[in-house]
Amino acid sequence: MSRFAPAIGIDLGTTYSCVGVFQNGKVEIIANDMGHRTTPSYVAFNDSERLIGDSAKNQAAMNPNNTVFDAKRLIGRKFSEDTVQKDMKLWPFKVVNNNEKPQIEVEYKAETKRFHAEEISSMVLTKMKETAEAYLGAKVKDAVITVPAYFNDAQRAATKDAGAIAGLNVLRIINEPTAAALAYGLDKKVSSERNVLIFDLGGGTFDVSILSIEDGMFEVKSTAGDTHLGGEDFDNRLVKHLIEEFKRKHKQDPSQNKRSLRRLRTAAEAAKRTLSSSSQAAIEIDSLFNGIDFYTNITRARFEDLCSDLFRGTLDPVERALRDAQLSKGQIHEVVLVGGSTRIPKIRKLLEEFFNGKQLNCSINPDEAVAYGAAVQAAVLTNVKDEVINDVLLVDVVPLSLGIETAGGVMTKLVERSTKVPTRAQNTFTTYADNQPAVTIQVFEGERAMTKDNNLLGSFNLQGIPPAPRGVPKIEVSFDVDANCMLTVTAKDTSTGKNESIKITNDQNRLSQKDIDRMVADAEKYKAEDDACRARVSAKNSLESYIFTVKSSIEDPAVAEKLDAKDKSMVVDLLKDAESWLERNQLAEKEELEHKMKEIQDKVAPVMSKLYSGGSPGSNGSRPTTQGMNGNSEAKGPTIEEVD
Ligand code: ADP
Ligand code: MG
Repeated sequence: MSRFAPAIGIDLGTTYSCVGVFQNGKVEIIANDMGHRTTPSYVAFNDSERLIGDSAKNQAAMNPNNTVFDAKRLIGRKFSEDTVQKDMKLWPFKVVNNNEKPQIEVEYKAETKRFHAEEISSMVLTKMKETAEAYLGAKVKDAVITVPAYFNDAQRAATKDAGAIAGLNVLRIINEPTAAALAYGLDKKVSSERNVLIFDLGGGTFDVSILSIEDGMFEVKSTAGDTHLGGEDFDNRLVKHLIEEFKRKHKQDPSQNKRSLRRLRTAAEAAKRTLSSSSQAAIEIDSLFNGIDFYTNITRARFEDLCSDLFRGTLDPVERALRDAQLSKGQIHEVVLVGGSTRIPKIRKLLEEFFNGKQLNCSINPDEAVAYGAAVQAAVLTNVKDEVINDVLLVDVVPLSLGIETAGGVMTKLVERSTKVPTRAQNTFTTYADNQPAVTIQVFEGERAMTKDNNLLGSFNLQGIPPAPRGVPKIEVSFDVDANCMLTVTAKDTSTGKNESIKITNDQNRLSQKDIDRMVADAEKYKAEDDACRARVSAKNSLESYIFTVKSSIEDPAVAEKLDAKDKSMVVDLLKDAESWLERNQLAEKEELEHKMKEIQDKVAPVMSKLYSGGSPGSNGSRPTTQGMNGNSEAKGPTIEEVD
């Protein structure tokens, strides 16, 4: 892989992630190595390896404490935040406090390891990057990554860091609803202002956003939703129902066993997906609990009934978002469906009815729409020339006003909400007391008049102000907002030229460049380990299947009769030895396994060759060939040819 691939778009989701690329005039959503177009945002660790995506999610039941998910709920947050404390109670994995930065603690290769949320997310991003590389046959460098519209500065910055740790050059962080609107080309349908409502119901979160789009400018008018509502809640309802049914039928409670519960949940999710396209789904779980098989059916109607309050409840945030944006239903021009859970027919129906029969935008798979739009944006940013995309100009706006606290706790705004990014603003301030040696710059976001009602983004001091009466020193404060909506604040004492600045995202909660560099190195190390592990597993598989093939061939009566007893018992013993060696050396390295393979082959091959050379012992006519016996490392002998 030498040349670079086109820039990709990644939807880094709470429960599932998706990757797309703009190529040959259209967006392609790329399937992973399991053939799935979305990949669980899961990372798991065990004694011998690290797993990412489907393989991590699939083993979660066996390894709950070391299977990490929901990193998006942690990224860019502080340990003591309410939501972090609440979420922690729900997670089977451990989260610890490292200087206010939350870290996830797992056992990996018999060691206790701690990871930042950025690192876990970077592992998911790496998986998405590799998925794209496998498809494109070239190294991927540039990417656009999406985040929820309500993500603050710190969360955006941390997501960008996750990209850097994964070795990606993050071209832009864009809002998920913006990406979805872009996927449908809603920015260029007409030139007058359009109001678009994005209804995003995913695995664990529900986001409603209202955007107004005009001349390629995307303004987030309002956001609403529920940070803990999504497909997993529907799965839970189904699980509860299934447990009751099991209890009724078998008088036993499978929920007592964690593994049974996890298997039920997996089956429930699959049944739920089936019910989006069929009116019935079968559930078949062998030996679910105490050896009892669980076979049952569920209808779509029953499922809708089990979830009816949750489904109906999704309309509340829609109403709230409309109210906040001061728009009526009739003023919404487009409704866009996003998130895997909007595949559920009942949810579509409710929403359609709410909008008085309006046609919903759902021609793009809802769980792929965000990655789709991100891929379009990636193409735009890398100047891909194509009529489909060449007139897309994406401009985000500052979602909340930005300012600093001045005397009396007043919010003094420097940047008004809805200002196009990038933008720069400057204002001059002064001291409040005579001979004041320093000022504290406290940066806030929000619309309220008093800072106590707004959100503190960060603060810093400008020191060494020469003694002067109050009101004399001139302190210039400037706000720089870049295209990712990330803010840098600088304060300068004009008399001395002395200045201090903070990248708001650079407060103590942000990783330092040194941290990131270390994590990049770690990530490469983990990847090398993963590769080594895969090579080891493949060497082991080769050895196992070689043993199996030889074993079955010497047991074949047609072969057995040509084999002399001495040879046969030698091979039988050899295979037995090899099997017990494998048993004892579960963690053998690739080289050891290959060596073992060679050792056996060297002894088995002459015996086998006798068979093929007409069974005359001693005739060493043809070269031994183990073609078709899987994994022959010196497969340079005659290749198998078709028999005509
Ligand atoms: P995220 O919320 O992480 O962005 P997605 O938008 O991909 O993720 O949504 C994932 C959720 O969608 C999961 O709960 C999954 O079970 C659900 N889902 C996926 N396909 C279907 C389907 N055909 N019917 C119902 N739910 C689905
Ligand atoms: Mg999503």
